[in-house]
Amino acid sequence: MAQQAPKGTKDVLPDNIYKWKFVEDAFRTLCAQRGFSEIRTPVFEYTQLFSRSVGDSTDIVEKQMYSFDDYDGRSLTLRPEGTAPVARAFLEHKLYAAPPPYKYAYEIACYRHERPQKGRQREFHQFGVEYFGSADMLADAEVIALAADFFTALGAAGDLALRINSVGCSVCRGGHREALRAFLLPRYDALCDTCKGRFDKNPLRILDCKSPVCGELVRGAPQMLDYLCDDCKSDFEALKRNLDALGLAFAVDAGIVRGLDYYTKTAFEFVSAGIGAQGTVCGGGRYDRLIEDLGGPPMPGVGFGLGIERLLLLMETAGAAIPPPPGADAYIAFWGEAAKLAGLALLRRLRAAGLRAEMDGPAQSLKGQMKRADRLGARYTIMIGEDELAENAVLLKDMISGEQRRVAQDGVLGALAAR
Ligand code: ATP
Ligand code: MG
Repeated sequence: MAQQAPKGTKDVLPDNIYKWKFVEDAFRTLCAQRGFSEIRTPVFEYTQLFSRSVGDSTDIVEKQMYSFDDYDGRSLTLRPEGTAPVARAFLEHKLYAAPPPYKYAYEIACYRHERPQKGRQREFHQFGVEYFGSADMLADAEVIALAADFFTALGAAGDLALRINSVGCSVCRGGHREALRAFLLPRYDALCDTCKGRFDKNPLRILDCKSPVCGELVRGAPQMLDYLCDDCKSDFEALKRNLDALGLAFAVDAGIVRGLDYYTKTAFEFVSAGIGAQGTVCGGGRYDRLIEDLGGPPMPGVGFGLGIERLLLLMETAGAAIPPPPGADAYIAFWGEAAKLAGLALLRRLRAAGLRAEMDGPAQSLKGQMKRADRLGARYTIMIGEDELAENAVLLKDMISGEQRRVAQDGVLGALAAR
């Protein structure tokens, strides 16, 4: 083939776009209802934004970033995730000058050099929210509830399970890290090369390794939940109480560590068993050090990223209905040059009245034009031939009932409006 889209990318074609618009509208509506304001950031950032925040021993930074030198020699990276850019914009524009909380929502394309498979692409899309300025577990519950209610609104919640965990904070992580190293030391030689490197730098990342060998080796490893400090413990209990109060079912899953370094305390995922190996549709958590690590003031935060491709897969599997776009209101069929001109004049009037009307040439057979009207899902077909023209009339056909009647050209709008 002469030209192909790059590996791991997908075109969204016109006959599918209504599904995207449907979930986009639903997400925007929900976010607006809850006071999350839309924010848009650039597709690329300076590379160090991600190496500093996401963490340089994570999969994303170690081997998945699309980075390149700009003409002035500075390294840029196509955004692999949404939180760091929003945090950067928050700081750069001093949005924290207003009183808290700060609640943002976005839809973005993300770029990661991964092995493409079902539910895993190199360019993919996310809905995301970030909630800065509150250390209260109410914020975590609010963010989790937003995702849960979004799935429910789309009719996609049935197959999804909410799993939560706590990954602790800088106070309690050290103890867990040492226990983890002690556990992994006798298994060190069998670890993959990447994880060998992580052993010293960041052993928690080994728990998140996608290699089946490492996955097997970490079975039975010490769990963060057993090492939480009092503050993290009481926050985790508060989160569970908040979720209960909201009526949200969840399961504690000590295996959720999340693939980004900036997470603290709350980590959560919405997982589906029905869409294949890439079952995590939404993942998020708290990141109380992120803003400070980026050079800002002390500023807690919590958010999530929700994969749109996986969401659409889930909706398809769950049989969640997405209404197809409405068809045209009217299609104008004509025979002959004079009829075409009368048709054009009528077309303009219908459109000025806000109707979705279409007409195209060259004039085909009656059958051809009726087929075209059908394909457009036209509610009415307006036919203009020589006979109609002679009487300044049209033949108006109701495409549902099949009923057909002659209407004066000036009366077409009225006749359509009357229906
Ligand atoms: P995974 O464990 O599946 O690699 P992740 O932990 O890397 O996911 P996040 O960085 O938390 O994912 O991104 C949030 C969401 O974005 C994921 O839950 C998923 O729905 C989606 N997502 C992540 N990577 C991809 C990808 N390569 N292709 C499609 N969707 C993705
Ligand atoms: Mg990943």
